[in-house]
Order: sequence, then C-alpha cells, then structure tokens
Amino acid sequence: MAIKQAIEGSSSYLMNTYNRFPLLLRKGRGMSVWSSEGKEYLDFVGGVAVNVLGHCHPKVVMAIQKQAQRLMHISNFYHIEQQIKLGKLLVENSFAQKAFFVNSGAEAVEAAIKLTRKYAKEHIGPERFEIITALQSFHGRTMGALSATGQEKFHKGFEPMLPGFRLVRYNDPKAIEAAINQHTCAVMLEPIQGEAGVRVPSPDYLKEVRKICDGHGILLILDEVQTGMGRTGKLFAYEHSGIAPDIMAVAKGIGNGMPMGVTLATDEVARAFGPGDHGSTFGGNPLACAAALATVETVLEDGILLDQCHRMGDYLMKKLEYLKKEFHSIIVDARGIGLLVGLEITRECSPIVTACMERGLLINCAAGNVLRFMPPLIVEEEDIDKMAGILEEVFERLS
Ligand SMILES: *Cc1c(COP(=O)(O)O)cnc(C)c1O
Repeated sequence: MAIKQAIEGSSSYLMNTYNRFPLLLRKGRGMSVWSSEGKEYLDFVGGVAVNVLGHCHPKVVMAIQKQAQRLMHISNFYHIEQQIKLGKLLVENSFAQKAFFVNSGAEAVEAAIKLTRKYAKEHIGPERFEIITALQSFHGRTMGALSATGQEKFHKGFEPMLPGFRLVRYNDPKAIEAAINQHTCAVMLEPIQGEAGVRVPSPDYLKEVRKICDGHGILLILDEVQTGMGRTGKLFAYEHSGIAPDIMAVAKGIGNGMPMGVTLATDEVARAFGPGDHGSTFGGNPLACAAALATVETVLEDGILLDQCHRMGDYLMKKLEYLKKEFHSIIVDARGIGLLVGLEITRECSPIVTACMERGLLINCAAGNVLRFMPPLIVEEEDIDKMAGILEEVFERLS
C-alpha cells in the first residue's frame, strides 16, 4: 500500500478519531522505523512511551513466536503459567503483593478504581467512594478513567461524567487536604503528568500526599501507565520519591508493543477483590504475558538498561538546555526525569513536529506547545546528537 491509498483508506474505513500524519510506517528495528517510501526515521516517540526496548527487540519477538506456536489464549478459568511468572516478577520488583492483568492503560485505571471502591466500602466507610484526582491529569478514555481525567477537552460531548471524582490542583498537597471530606476514599495521581506536557511536581510532593492519605486513612493510587517500565531510570517512578502507593496502574511499556496492562496492589487492598468481582477475557493471556515477561526481564537485566536510561536522560537534558540557551526566545523550559522529557516552547509545536518529520525525525507534541521525547530506553548518544542536530536546524529556520 502506498501513502496515498493509506490516506484514502483510513478516511473511507476508519472512524475519524485520530489526526494522522501522512506517513505509513512498515518496518521497525531498534531506534528506527521505515516508511512505505523506504525513508528511515529516527523514532523519539517510541509508540508513545511503549517501545521501551526499541522496535522488534529480538528477545520479545522470540518470546511471542515461541508462545504463539504453543498457546495464544486460554480463559482465566484456568491457571496461566506465564501470568504467574509475570506476576511474581512484578511483585518481586515493586511495592505490590498482587497483580491483576488487563489489556490497556485505561483498563488498569478502571481496575484500580473498582478495587478502591470495593476496599473503601469494606474498610474505610460505607459512604466512602470519592477519589481525588488532579487537574490536567490523564487517566484514559473509558468512562471511569475519563471521569477521573482532569482535562475538560476530553470530557466535551461525553457528559455526564461518572460521579465520585473530585479535581484539585496538581503539585499542591494543601489542595488535596482541603478537598478531603466524609466521602473521600483515595487520591489518584500521575508521578509526572505526561499528557499535560511532562509536568514534574516538586520532589517531596508524593511524600506529602502519602502523609495526608495516611493521616486520613485513605488510599494512594498512582497512575504509572506512562512513567513506569523504566521510563524514568527506575522500574517505577514512585521509587524516586521514597514512598509507595497502595494501588498502581501500569501499561504502555510493559509488553514493548503487545497490548497489555496491569493493576498492582498491596495484599491488604487486593483482598477486597473476590471471585467474580472483576474480570477480563483477554487480560493476562499467555501470548501477552510471554511478551511482557521478556520485556520486563530485559528492562531489569543487571540494571543495565535502567542505568542507560538515567545516563541518556541526563545527556538529552544537557542537549536541550544548550538549545534553550541558543533559542531562548522560543524555548521556555526543558524538564523531565530519565527519558520522559518535555521542551516547552512559546508557540504551537505541530509545525516543528512536521519539519522534524521532513528531516527524518519523529517527535511528539503534548498539550499543544510541549515537544515530548519518549525514546526507547536503548537510545544512544549518537541518536540524541542526531535528534538535537535536526531540532537545532528547525529552530534556526524559525528564529
Ligand atoms: C496513556 C495513558 C493512559 C491510557 O492508556 P491507554 O492504554 O491508552 O488506555 C492512562 N494513564 C496515563 C498516565 C497514560 O499516559
């Protein structure tokens, strides 16, 4: 299929929910993808923080091939070996003691909401159902996750939102304290607000929120759908904060491209779910778990990749700080942790994204004016140099 046919085909047969670039990508390997025209692109989007190991990582490909030949799907009516192994690996490497597997970020958030409500009714109070979330947050597109999301633009046209969510300012523990009432059962936050434009809270924010939650006997839920799986140089971003949540939603990077998510919780909270309380036909099927097992094992292997993420994150930030000095009239701020980095500029960033694409670089735009960088964790200095060179050229033309 050529790009012209692809554009026509999408418009003829697919619902018009995405503003797609005129680009048809056919093949990927490591940091690169190739278009239908045979042009190579350096990928700093990574499928929106999904391809943590880069495209078509051999270990993940091998795991999928092997599992696909044996058994792809079997119901959760039966024990699933790969699911048990993956659950064990996640439990051994996080605060959690129990896992529930799903197929996407929104579903991981939904499971977190349902588990919270069930636990709250039994252990906090029968009238406790309200979850405090943050303005400008993003938790997904299903009705529950959407209602938790603090951005009106996503709500528009889909009202009424579900009751039971209260929005407060992000990075402001006092706002949480003030919003707690006789119905509150939990606070749900992203450790870094990704979709809002990589908004990084002050270093002690989560610690203060944890203290407030403990003081009121309510739960802390973290949405690590974007920040998890090594993205910030730790397996999970909460590890930077010195505290742990009670429940956590994880997805995006966990299967390196295999649709997969997980809700993790402490034993105490997880016990609120009993047989029949929640379920998913596909959740944690052998194929998805085999892919995720290979991905998580590789991310954790000797800490090499996490260390590299940390070092490359520093290197990327240095490059962006340099650009910020050079183009101080365009660039407002460079921020982020590890390889979740945002460059806030004084104008719409979509023309910059297009100009970069013409030069063989894929980057993302969040919140209209923040260039967001989420490359695979395997990114190397040469890739960052190349990316920064292209960006410099594009900024030069603008100024
Ligand atoms: C992407 C994202 C989601 C939604 O994930 P889907 O897989 O698209 O449903 C939820 N929360 C956060 C923080 C995200 O970045």
